[in-house]
Amino acid sequence: MTGHAFTTEGTAHCPFMPVFGPPARMIVRGEGTEVWDSEGRRLLDFLSGIAVVSLGHANERVADAIAEQARTLVHVSNFFANPVATEAAQRIDALLAEATGSHGQIFFTNSGAEANECAIKLARRHGGRGRHTVVSALGSFHGRTLATLAATGQPSKHEPFQPMPEGFRQVEWGDLDAMATAVDGSVAAVLIESIQGEGGVQPAPEGYLRGIRELCDATGALMIVDEVQTGFARTGRWFGFEHASISPDVVTMAKGMGNGMPVGACWAPTPIAASFSPGDHGSTFSGTALATAAVNAVIDEMLRLDAPAMAIAAGDEIRSRLAGTPGITGVRGAGLLLGVGLADGIVAGDVAADCLENGLIVNAVNASTIRLAPPLTVTVDEIEEATGILAAAIANQVPGGAGHE
Ligand SMILES: *Cc1c(COP(=O)(O)O)cnc(C)c1O
Repeated sequence: MTGHAFTTEGTAHCPFMPVFGPPARMIVRGEGTEVWDSEGRRLLDFLSGIAVVSLGHANERVADAIAEQARTLVHVSNFFANPVATEAAQRIDALLAEATGSHGQIFFTNSGAEANECAIKLARRHGGRGRHTVVSALGSFHGRTLATLAATGQPSKHEPFQPMPEGFRQVEWGDLDAMATAVDGSVAAVLIESIQGEGGVQPAPEGYLRGIRELCDATGALMIVDEVQTGFARTGRWFGFEHASISPDVVTMAKGMGNGMPVGACWAPTPIAASFSPGDHGSTFSGTALATAAVNAVIDEMLRLDAPAMAIAAGDEIRSRLAGTPGITGVRGAGLLLGVGLADGIVAGDVAADCLENGLIVNAVNASTIRLAPPLTVTVDEIEEATGILAAAIANQVPGGAGHE
């Protein structure tokens, strides 16, 4: 059994609030796809800090950009502009203009939840009084603040914190009829992921996002696509919604955009962003020069490398190496956001623990799925090593199977 990072067990000796399970290891250093723990053990990181460190740990160009910016200007408040955030906003807008055909405006945040908070407030402002409901899907994940928790389609996560803020409604994921019924005249927006990440790596069914787009067009509700996990080349396109050839009204993003620097954003075409007036929203740390220097470096590097193409090639490599592995029922997802489905009787948590013991970080995103989200810079050799460890860990769980020696 895997131990955990704090040698003295129990919350009394851990300096962090007990909202996470016991951390498995103390990680002290990283480089590319590799990290090292406090006992000097090397681990291959096929989780990337939950789809965050897309350009690899300690990426040199991002590190240089952060270090240089830290010595130049970190923060000035939004009473002033800074050239770094301005450039980052223009560049994200250029990416989204290419994807949607519309130019828009950005609000920078420190997290994915805050990006969704901004989107929800924008939708309420746009809808006006009496038109404030946000419809989302069961199984979705949109964040941990109260409003984004209310939008998150996981009732068990609501329970300890009832009452939830008013004005949120969830329907079955993938069911367009249920969505059509839910999107009535009180609905300001539909908030939807292009692939449910935390929900188990569940891609939107064919036609689902297009159907929602049509519903929103018919009713005037905004279509908000939550690209916090799927954005920034993770799925093989800059944004996951591009696979469905639709144009959302609002796009939120965070995880991969700073390569680990806490930064997110909410984007909307200019006429929609115009629903906000000065004073409607804000954040002390919105668009600090430091965070957005990381964003600029990430975009530079992702363009230079053609990160979407890397995600596709590496994703294909993983799929072909896992094909036919006993105990795997299928591999879902796109690019390098993959869910490895496990056969009945195999417990994903046990597989992930076995992988960790053998030098591979993966995540049991639910009881029967292993999520793989390595850096987009992962090499073929690393994929060979990781898929070998994973296959052996699964074989260990298959009754009568032989895994690691
Ligand atoms: C992680 C995630 C969030 C929340 O982001 P935080 O930075 O943890 O607040 C929201 N939406 C999706 C789809 C996510 O995967």
